[in-house]
Amino acid sequence: MNKIVIVGSGNVGNSYAYSLLNQNTRVDEIILIDLDSKKALGNAMDLSHTLLFSTSKIKVKAGSYIDAKDARIVVIAAGANQKPNETRLELINKNNIIIKQIVSKILSSGFNGIFLVATNPVDIMCYLVKKYSKFQSGKIIGSGTILDTSRLAFLLSDKLNVDYSDIHAYVLGEHGDTSFIPWSNSKVGPINIQDIIPKDELNQIENKVRRLAYKIIDLKGETSYGIGVCLAKITNAILNDENAVLPVSVLYDKMYLSMPAVINKNGVKGVMKVKLTLEEKEKLEKSKNVLKQIIMNLEE
Ligand code: ADP
Repeated sequence: MNKIVIVGSGNVGNSYAYSLLNQNTRVDEIILIDLDSKKALGNAMDLSHTLLFSTSKIKVKAGSYIDAKDARIVVIAAGANQKPNETRLELINKNNIIIKQIVSKILSSGFNGIFLVATNPVDIMCYLVKKYSKFQSGKIIGSGTILDTSRLAFLLSDKLNVDYSDIHAYVLGEHGDTSFIPWSNSKVGPINIQDIIPKDELNQIENKVRRLAYKIIDLKGETSYGIGVCLAKITNAILNDENAVLPVSVLYDKMYLSMPAVINKNGVKGVMKVKLTLEEKEKLEKSKNVLKQIIMNLEE
C-alpha cells in the first residue's frame, strides 16, 4: 500500500495532494496532518469530494503522526510564513524548531520511508531533516530547483517554440537567489542552447527564472500549483521506480543543494557530476557559501 503523509495542509501541501488526485499515480492513501487539525480535516473532506470524477481512487484523510508508521513518503510542507520586519535568518530559526518537532514525531511512529521536503528555504530544511532524523542521506530529498527548472523549460519552450520535453536545461544550486543555470550543458534536442541564444539573452533568462517566484508572490501572495505538480513528479519517480533524472536538493559537499539526481524507489540512487565551466563553478561556489553561512548561523 502506497501511503503518503503530508505534514502541512497549507497552499503547498494541498496543491500537491490535488495534483496527485488528478494524475495516474500509485498512491493509495494520503494523510493530511496540520497544527490546525480542523483545517486538515476540512481539506481532506474537500479533496475527497473529487473522487467521483477524478482519475484516481486515492483515499484522503486527516490524521496524526502515528499514521506515518507505514508511509512510503512523508512530505514536509509545514512552516511559518515570513512576518513583516522578520529577517530571513529569524524565519529559518523558527522553521528549524518546527522541523525538529515534526521529524521527532514522525520518527516516533517508526517511519522508515523517504522524506520529501518542500518547506523553505528547502536546502536548509533538508539539512535539518538529515541532522534530526539521522536517516541515510539518500532518503531525504528536497524539491530544490525542480520548480525553477520547470519555469526555465516554460520560458525556453516559449522562446524557441519547441515542446517542453525537448528542453534539457537545469537550474542548479541553492533554491534561492544564488541558483544558476549551467548553460554549457543546456540543450534543445541535440543542439547546445548557447549556440542559438546570445549570452546577454541567456543572462536575462537566468535572472528572470530567479525572479519568477517573487513576481508570483507579488501578484497573488503565494505560489502553489507549480510546486504541487513538481512534488507529484518526484513522488511518481519514487513510487514507479523510474530512475528519473531530476534537479532536486540532495546531499552535496556536506550540505543539501540541487544537482541532477537519479530518483527511484530507494530515494536518491546517485548524484550526477556535471562538468561546469569556470564561470559556472564560481556560481556553484557562491551558492555553497550562502548555504554554508546559514548553516553556521543556525541556532541549536
Ligand atoms: P505554504 O504556502 O508554504 O503552503 P501555508 O501557510 O499555506 O504555507 O501552509 C503551511 C502550513 O503549515 C499551515 O497550514 C500551518 O498550519 C502548518 N504548520 C505550521 N507549523 C506546523 C507544525 N509545527 N506542524 C504541522 N503543521 C504546521
